[in-house]
Amino acid sequence: MALIELKNLAHSYHPHPAGENDYALRRMNHSWQDGRAYALLGPSGCGKTTLLNIISGLQKPSEGQVLFDGLEVTALPPEQRNIAQVFQFPVIYDTMTVFDNLAFPLRNRGVAVTQVRRRVKEVAEMLELSEVLNKRAANLSADAKQKISLGRGLVRSDVAAILFDEPLTVIDPHLKWSLRRKLKQIHARFKLTMVYVTHDQLEALTFADQVVVMHAGQVVQIGSPQELFETPSHTFVGYFIGSPGMNIMPCRLGVNGVQVEGFEIALEPRLLQAAADAQGNLEVGIRPEFLQLADTARPGGVPVELCTVEDLGTYRIVTVAMGSQQLKIKLDEAVPLPGGSLRVHFPPAWTRLYADSHLVSGD
Ligand code: ATP
Repeated sequence: MALIELKNLAHSYHPHPAGENDYALRRMNHSWQDGRAYALLGPSGCGKTTLLNIISGLQKPSEGQVLFDGLEVTALPPEQRNIAQVFQFPVIYDTMTVFDNLAFPLRNRGVAVTQVRRRVKEVAEMLELSEVLNKRAANLSADAKQKISLGRGLVRSDVAAILFDEPLTVIDPHLKWSLRRKLKQIHARFKLTMVYVTHDQLEALTFADQVVVMHAGQVVQIGSPQELFETPSHTFVGYFIGSPGMNIMPCRLGVNGVQVEGFEIALEPRLLQAAADAQGNLEVGIRPEFLQLADTARPGGVPVELCTVEDLGTYRIVTVAMGSQQLKIKLDEAVPLPGGSLRVHFPPAWTRLYADSHLVSGD
């Protein structure tokens, strides 16, 4: 397994790119650690597939370099990069048995018969394909075929990395969960370098130990699911991760924090100096999970009007108006809704500040 480095990487599909907007990928400099599971997450068109194809060698970048373990592979075709790739649609041989499909990448490289048998058995057990090893792939369901495709990616233990391009798209929704868990278990057991493209945040957050959030051809944040949730480094990450996303409102500097439409929202003391020094348009952000709704018996907070309550089974999404701004609050179903005049409390430990969309950090 390998360390993947991207140096000054950029790509344009235009023959003569005139400006930044003509680039599908803008200048990227990143190192992805050996043996970790990365998910490339972002909206349609942000450049995920382009980046994956550049790493695999299916696409040559217009600028920059790709290195595996310090060795440049930018000009090498996929077959010389020692990587495995699993695509959105199963890539298998329908006329072969499941066993032969799984064995194919090993036999192709002249691996000894006993080792092929051992490795195929191991992968089949992991993916619960042991019972169908002797069946023809053509006779199996779409889910089973995609499992075979996954198995073909996982069967080689000598690959530098395994790249997945939305591999669960064709999988039945109720099986997705178990396959995601399985992939995570496989990663934990074999410590493979995995790069997994998806536009589904749940898939990214459950699969990866590092999520690479992309937007408009750039990486906006790389972090653990917890980091992305607790401290989005860019307002785009705040909006994009979470359901619903972060509440983000324009604000200006106040006395002990910031002001939104004349209401004071306190910041942690360590953030106050950084807030005073910050340049650009200020915004305050807080996740719906961290806002607290109370009645007037609790001192402090900001007065709000109740707009809507959506009941979603185990929790509710309460929308309130704070002046002309709307805020979403996620409340556990077990927590009773306060009555009468309402106030919202912003716990300073969870209140983030952004300047021109970038996190202002007090560290
Ligand atoms: P999706 O989730 O929809 O697959 P993505 O994040 O993988 O999107 P890419 O497919 O990498 O994004 O596309 C990035 C940008 O490059 C988009 O603007 C897309 O239209 C453009 N693009 C992708 N492939 C080509 C191509 N072969 N020729 C020209 N433009 C392309």
